[in-house]
Amino acid sequence: MLISCNSTCDTCEGEGKVFCQTCEGNGETACSHCEGTGIDECSYCKGAGEMSCTNCAGSGKERKLDIASGEYIDQSCQKCSGSGTSECNFCSGEGSGNCEPCKGTGNVTCKECNGEEKLVCKTCDGTGKI
Ligand SMILES: [Zn+2]
Ligand SMILES: [Zn+2]
Ligand SMILES: [Zn+2]
Ligand SMILES: [Zn+2]
Ligand SMILES: [Zn+2]
Repeated sequence: MLISCNSTCDTCEGEGKVFCQTCEGNGETACSHCEGTGIDECSYCKGAGEMSCTNCAGSGKERKLDIASGEYIDQSCQKCSGSGTSECNFCSGEGSGNCEPCKGTGNVTCKECNGEEKLVCKTCDGTGKI
């Protein structure tokens, strides 16, 4: 490379800064956690929208003392109507929620330029001249 004193840097056209390639000058990149959708699978129910019933531990049955006979009998769990599952409290049964790393926006601040959109030109060290 030819080095001539005080000529304008071609790479940054004398600005001393170049657009960040990583985010293409947006200052943000697509969130890798949710692949830019902003939606993340609910980590509590693993996306199923339901979790096993806390009352019967997923068995669908609960044990109750039968007063008349004095014996324990199995009956359908009243909380889940015997299904053994209940709606996930964390996602209201949706199975998904806002992605945490990007707060549901689908974008995160570019790590390369820290959201500054531009990087110091390496060719001229930010001086704009070479
Ligand atoms: Zn430059
Ligand atoms: Zn995300
Ligand atoms: Zn959930
Ligand atoms: Zn139950
Ligand atoms: Zn960037």
